[in-house]
Amino acid sequence: MRLVFLGPPGSGKGTQSKRLVEHLHILHLSTGDMLRAVVTQDTEIGRAAAQSMATGWLVPDALVVKLVKDRFREPDVQNGFLIDGFPRTVAQAAAFEEYLAETQRPLSGVLELRVPLEELVSRLAGRGRKDDTPEIVRERQGIYRQKTQPLVDFYRQRKLLFPIDGLGTSDEVFERIIETVTGLKP
Ligand code: AMP
Repeated sequence: MRLVFLGPPGSGKGTQSKRLVEHLHILHLSTGDMLRAVVTQDTEIGRAAAQSMATGWLVPDALVVKLVKDRFREPDVQNGFLIDGFPRTVAQAAAFEEYLAETQRPLSGVLELRVPLEELVSRLAGRGRKDDTPEIVRERQGIYRQKTQPLVDFYRQRKLLFPIDGLGTSDEVFERIIETVTGLKP
């Protein structure tokens, strides 16, 4: 199974991704986690990533695409994956689609976790991560709507989009995800 997990900051995407990969026994990739590891290094990509992440802005497409492609060269990706936090722009989605086609690994589906904006803001206020100050939260929501929301259409046109209602308890949402994934080709 090869899955992309879309959803705005605060949608529960991280938590649900972790549960789903344990359930499906597939690899979990998160560009947020990969980038947080990269910023600890004093490299060009580390410095560029640190600057973007501290402000809630997106790291430049070329850097993130390279990071993902390098990771996909590792053999453990062969058995399927769930990637969360990527793609985040149409340019990333197009580059990823091309790469997956070249390597003959088409996506099984794209899960889109849907949560209304008011609910997101109140959830994020209680999270306490370093890049969760009110200003950065607002910035990241704006960027999501502007840059990432267009991916919903991108994947809908490819008949890969599976929207999921993200309201309710974690168990209720997980149940819906499992139902959706059960209907997908392996
Ligand atoms: P996340 O953990 O997914 O919320 O990502 C944290 C931060 O890492 C984001 O606010 C961005 O600055 C950066 N980031 C993560 N994934 C990407 C991506 N696919 N493209 C650009 N920036 C990203």
